[in-house]
Amino acid sequence: MTLMLGYMLGMSATSGYKMEYNISFDQARHYINVELNVTFQQPANDTHTLEMPVWAPGYYMILDYPKNLSDFKATTPDGQTPLTWTKTSKNQWAIDVRQTGFKVTYRIYANEHSVAESRVENDMAFIAPNGVFMYLDGDKQHEVTVSIDMPAGWNKASTGMKPAGQNSGPRRTFIAPDFDTLFDSPILLGNHFVTQFTHEGHDYEFAIETPDGLSETTFIDDFKRMVSQTTRLIGHVPYDNYCLIHLGAGGGGLEHLNSQACYTSGSYRFESRSEYLRHLSFVTHEYFHLYNVKSIRPFELGPFDYSRECYTPLLWVSEGFTCYYENRILLQAGIIGADYMLNDLSSSIRTTETSEGHRHMSLRQSSYDIWLNFFNHSENVISYYDKGPILGLLFDIELRRLTDTGRGLDDLMRLLYNRYYLQLKRGFTEQEFWQAAEEVAGSSLAHLRRYVDTTDEIDYETLLTPAGLAIDRNNWQLHKIDKASRQQEKLRKAIIGS
Ligand SMILES: [Zn+2]
Repeated sequence: MTLMLGYMLGMSATSGYKMEYNISFDQARHYINVELNVTFQQPANDTHTLEMPVWAPGYYMILDYPKNLSDFKATTPDGQTPLTWTKTSKNQWAIDVRQTGFKVTYRIYANEHSVAESRVENDMAFIAPNGVFMYLDGDKQHEVTVSIDMPAGWNKASTGMKPAGQNSGPRRTFIAPDFDTLFDSPILLGNHFVTQFTHEGHDYEFAIETPDGLSETTFIDDFKRMVSQTTRLIGHVPYDNYCLIHLGAGGGGLEHLNSQACYTSGSYRFESRSEYLRHLSFVTHEYFHLYNVKSIRPFELGPFDYSRECYTPLLWVSEGFTCYYENRILLQAGIIGADYMLNDLSSSIRTTETSEGHRHMSLRQSSYDIWLNFFNHSENVISYYDKGPILGLLFDIELRRLTDTGRGLDDLMRLLYNRYYLQLKRGFTEQEFWQAAEEVAGSSLAHLRRYVDTTDEIDYETLLTPAGLAIDRNNWQLHKIDKASRQQEKLRKAIIGS
């Protein structure tokens, strides 16, 4: 797929109006000043409603972005005459328009250390677009222009969106072909460290707020190896350019269409090799999401309704399998070894099996109910981040066992990518997911599905033995079995490489 090419500045042919944003900052008070100019092809004579999202894809929690908005004003295009407007819900503003356009101004308080929320400091700004921009009358399928007035001394603007013209000087302009792209393109502004390179025909930009120690690591080389391995795995790259945004000390990471935004430990000085690998796994996780959730995606996850919860029973695939692939990709890229992968999977099994929640909540339900439980760690819930990768491992083993290692989870991911993303250009339903999985397996997977749909205890011994693996139920540690048969060794090698 080609992103953000082939469109021009100007009027949208489909919507009949043009939307242009101008952004500036009040750094000392942590505000983003927003000006929106809407221009119609024909004079309007009715009410137009602006909407702001209340959540951000990948962050499955209602954040109610409009809580940060104040000083909303609507005027004629020249800014001279106020227009009548009223709020019609928490995230909607209905404006009476009698001209060929209108202007809206408002400001956003931006002072959160969160990958899903904006932050403005004296020397930088991180723009989480869902909490800043509004779309008109529910119409998101047209281009939108964002121009940014750079405060004095700021000289870098990094985002997955391509700039209109040169990305330099006191004013930067970006164009998104539609609001889904804009909302999936966070922007880092300021004087952060930037390095750009081309790898296998695609352009990369690393934008790092706190790069201390970076040059002493192998991070950029390891990232390239990880990308190459992921490309081999899926067989296709769904972007022209990719932007990695790493923020200072904090927590959390969020995947985007052709970028990622992550908080870090605040430097690239790692105390140990395992701490470095945890960072690399985290980056790999967010990167692999551009396949598994952005393109290999449940039907409910795009196009989005940004004004309410978006329920899917399949986040255990989107998140859980991505956790499994963090390790699998790094293993196949030669960056981690089998022991690292087994230890990480053991940790997921241990967390799941020692939790009270696994007796009360199924993996499927943990996906559907994430809107209630994003930060709920009570004993009645489980996390698909823990039980999901276990199913990733069990799927990989079972698909390989049933096909005599002819096909594995990689084949299922490729099938979903090619059939639903590339050919049908849509997500898959839960039924279609299971159909695709059984197509790869060549037989029923009902014996795995019960571990997704119910709280039945997992029969690890039966499922792990064909892969020459066993688990110690005293400490939930995975290990290789002694004296594995040739068949077991073959399957284990396909999974953990040894
Ligand atoms: Zn994730």
